[in-house]
Amino acid sequence: MSEKKLKIAVIGAGIIGCTSAVVLIESIPNVDITIISEKFTPNTTSDGSGGLIYPYLSGSTDRQRIRKWINNSLVYLNKYYQLPDSGKFGIGLLSMYYLLEDEEVFDYPDFDDIMISQRPMTSSELKQFSSSSSSESQNKWTKGVYVTTYYAECRKLLPYLLQQFKSKGGKVCQQRVDSLQQLIGKYDIVINCRGLEAGKCSADQSVHPIRGQVYRISAPWIKHSVMAGNHYIVPNSDCVVLGGTKQLNNWDTMVDPKDSKDIMDGCSQLIPSIRAAQVVNEWVGLRPGRHEVRLEREVISDGQSNNQLQVIHNYGHGGCGVTLSFGCAHEVLDYVQQIISSNNVKSRL
Ligand SMILES: Cc1cc2nc3c(=O)[nH]c(=O)nc-3n(C[C@H](O)[C@H](O)[C@H](O)COP(=O)(O)OP(=O)(O)OC[C@H]3O[C@@H](n4cnc5c(N)ncnc54)[C@H](O)[C@@H]3O)c2cc1C
Repeated sequence: MSEKKLKIAVIGAGIIGCTSAVVLIESIPNVDITIISEKFTPNTTSDGSGGLIYPYLSGSTDRQRIRKWINNSLVYLNKYYQLPDSGKFGIGLLSMYYLLEDEEVFDYPDFDDIMISQRPMTSSELKQFSSSSSSESQNKWTKGVYVTTYYAECRKLLPYLLQQFKSKGGKVCQQRVDSLQQLIGKYDIVINCRGLEAGKCSADQSVHPIRGQVYRISAPWIKHSVMAGNHYIVPNSDCVVLGGTKQLNNWDTMVDPKDSKDIMDGCSQLIPSIRAAQVVNEWVGLRPGRHEVRLEREVISDGQSNNQLQVIHNYGHGGCGVTLSFGCAHEVLDYVQQIISSNNVKSRL
């Protein structure tokens, strides 16, 4: 008798859906996985992200979970970084200065033991930014954190992950899924990775946009990331990303010239040569905000038949979906393994 394969659908092909699908297909034997998504790379929010691997705008998600996810993400990123062709799929090491003003409450990020390196900035490092203060005699940025981390450029990483997924037998289907109920009876497990739209299918009202606008410039001389106040400078492999905005509940996806000016003024105060760089493009994306990342199991039914569907929600990653993606995918794998070893889908295997 032929073995029946476990059927999994991953809804969404941004960084959260693609990492979930790849981690599952690489780890579970005898599985039939389909990514169903309305949009694929290069047209997802993930594609426009700055790709900096560091937590940002994650609501009040439990700190220990964030720490665990970042820790696991870094394990995967390191594995990918060690591959001979990692440059082609947009993963690289990056050092960063994260600057704080004197009056800012210095809540030192508790990642010293997790990041590749993290430590308080020295006074000579802080002096590098004295000319970016309004007064020459006084340095505006009096505190800061030095970090070594990765960047993961989704415009290159997503095509690579999809190719890896397909090469292991994964299927993709371009389709909108308005309700998870329509998948009952067709799949054993569904992973809900629809980003900003994910809440719709589970009546979750708490998902909201956090509008982000960025420049991409050609400035190959900038090799170091800087975050300061609302502004950030993140070198990628062939451009530098300048941000940004974090406007809650703003659905406008058009470039706003006022934001453009604010970003250019703020970033060129930090690194003056930015003004002379060629602008590659400007872009606006809506981060999938939520009071906390939703990564949990739910069982849904259609209310008519006895059929049930195991759902794993994985959405609401705000401004750090790329950062948390592999770590969350690893936890999705744990949930799928729990479901497999329970009675729910055992009979199919
Ligand atoms: C300007 C900006 C800069 C950022 N910089 C960083 C950064 O430096 N580092 C970082 O970690 N994060 C960053 N982020 C955040 C990051 O981009 C997001 O957290 C991440 O992209 C979320 O990934 P996702 O897969 O959940 O969503 P998305 O990329 O939006 O993917 C959602 C997927 O679901 C599909 N979908 C939606 N609805 C349906 C439906 N009804 N049926 C079928 N498919 C559907 C979509 O088509 C898409 O494929 C940034 C975001 C912005 C806007």
